[in-house]
Amino acid sequence: MAVSYKDLGLVNTREMFKRAINGGYAIPAFNFNNMEQLQAIITASSKLKSPVILQVSKGARNYANQTLLRYMAQGAVEYAKELGCNHPEIALHLDHGDSFELCKSCVDMGFSSVMIDGSSLPYEENIALTKKVVEYAHQFDVTVEGELGVLAGVEDEVVAEESHYTRPEEVIDFTKRTGVDSLAISIGTSHGAYKFKPEQCTRDPKTGVLVPPPLAFDILDDIMKELPGFPIVLHGSSSVPQEYVDMINSTGGKLPDAVGIPEEQLRKAAKSAVCKINIDSDSRLAFTAAVRKVFAEKPGEFDPRKYCGPARDLMIELYEHKIKEVLGSDNKLAQLD
Ligand SMILES: [Zn+2]
Repeated sequence: MAVSYKDLGLVNTREMFKRAINGGYAIPAFNFNNMEQLQAIITASSKLKSPVILQVSKGARNYANQTLLRYMAQGAVEYAKELGCNHPEIALHLDHGDSFELCKSCVDMGFSSVMIDGSSLPYEENIALTKKVVEYAHQFDVTVEGELGVLAGVEDEVVAEESHYTRPEEVIDFTKRTGVDSLAISIGTSHGAYKFKPEQCTRDPKTGVLVPPPLAFDILDDIMKELPGFPIVLHGSSSVPQEYVDMINSTGGKLPDAVGIPEEQLRKAAKSAVCKINIDSDSRLAFTAAVRKVFAEKPGEFDPRKYCGPARDLMIELYEHKIKEVLGSDNKLAQLD
């Protein structure tokens, strides 16, 4: 039987995006696959009174079970209230939906927002598929994110060798004909912890750390000129903090030359019409770094709470930092009491 997200206490993304664009900040979209990640996201966003988007990929849905995920999202709303956030704004969003059937199933299962990613299809097919999802989702007041342009990198089942920047001349036609509520664009962000090849980067002469090429803000500007005030989404926006990479590498891990998007550039993007910034890899890195540290220091530890707990603490720290210092979404709930 179908369930509405409204009955679960969730919200769609329409109002939070409108306020984010007008206020010059961005809403965090954090992926989750397990309880500790969800606890960390809700703890950080509730404490800082930030609206938040819980993202579930097709892979996460297969990993954790869709029914369980839905109840976890419902539980997240109640947990936020318990943490003193009386009017939380939490969206449950499908990340990279790849078919009408998957999007429909999420809408029917209580998701408040879905992405249909037809970006790898020919333009007209992307439009047809996206429009079909929008027509279904809007009957239930579920918001829809579309995508134009291709990001490089690997994210669950989404793999692309090369990126193709979004063509600003297509965005009006695409958004008008599909009716999407927001648009993911490609301006140089990338999925995964290896966003750029070393040959695309320069090396900091002092630290030896890779410095990635800058995002294409000129394309973002052109898109904003074509679509004034329209909600824009950035995928693949982890920064791959060097401290986590070092923690992992110094405890037996192997992540050579992992590189992300500098936070400075995301701060700049958050002030524009970019109103949703997707962060997944950073949380995976924090989780792995903390677990590795426990194993390295206490090889006899075998209680999962003793290593998942520290992982959760490090993720809380990460999410708070993103909300406050990068996206600027703290104290932005419509009702702060
Ligand atoms: Zn993505």
